[in-house]
Amino acid sequence: MQQNKDIDQFDIPLAKRTYLNNPNSTLLKKLLIFTPFLFLIFSVSALRFIKYVGLIPPNNLSFQVAKNHDARILGHLPYNETPKEKLVLIEPNIEVHMDMRDSLLKMREDAKKDGIYLVFLSGYRSINLQKDIFYSLKSIRNQEAAERARVSAPPGYSEHSTGFAIDIGDATQRETDFETDFENTDAFRWLIKNAAKFHFKLSFNKYNKYIDYEPWHWRYEGSIEALKVFESSNRNYKSN
Ligand SMILES: [Zn+2]
Repeated sequence: MQQNKDIDQFDIPLAKRTYLNNPNSTLLKKLLIFTPFLFLIFSVSALRFIKYVGLIPPNNLSFQVAKNHDARILGHLPYNETPKEKLVLIEPNIEVHMDMRDSLLKMREDAKKDGIYLVFLSGYRSINLQKDIFYSLKSIRNQEAAERARVSAPPGYSEHSTGFAIDIGDATQRETDFETDFENTDAFRWLIKNAAKFHFKLSFNKYNKYIDYEPWHWRYEGSIEALKVFESSNRNYKSN
């Protein structure tokens, strides 16, 4: 008991934590509170930056865009000629790429069931044939190349050379063949509603700034090869 009494007699001073009122210490306190947030913000920004840099190909983006524009001639993209062995004859004068044959014929059959008679006007065209069309029509119509290019592709720049393009008419209104008026036929209305089911797409719509509207001209995008061929065109779709 005597011992405890001695302990009670010790004068233990109260801890004085006065340093928190010091202006320098307040700043330190604030820094301690905000440091984790600052670190988090910095980390997120750094990660985003690294990701962004990783996404950019070695050639910078503006060069990429310039390259795509350079590939066009009078608004048309370049297309290779499909090798002969990939072509099939579907009618006496119409050859198409073997990938799209079945789908194209099925589309015509299904249209018929709905009372719509599609007629195929032009399929595959060799670069030589395209050359004749482009230059002969240009001189017949006394048009300059740029004017002619609005309605016909220069040789080496036609979707028809790929075998994946088809010009379609309405068998009951042949006067609208290759005419903008084709858009007022039952065949065109049927195509707008149904062609996508068969993987066909209108190539040159009303909003194409380089090439005139061609309601009769459709292209097939139902195989990997076809998609590869039209990749560049689809990539630039918004700027077409
Ligand atoms: Zn065409």
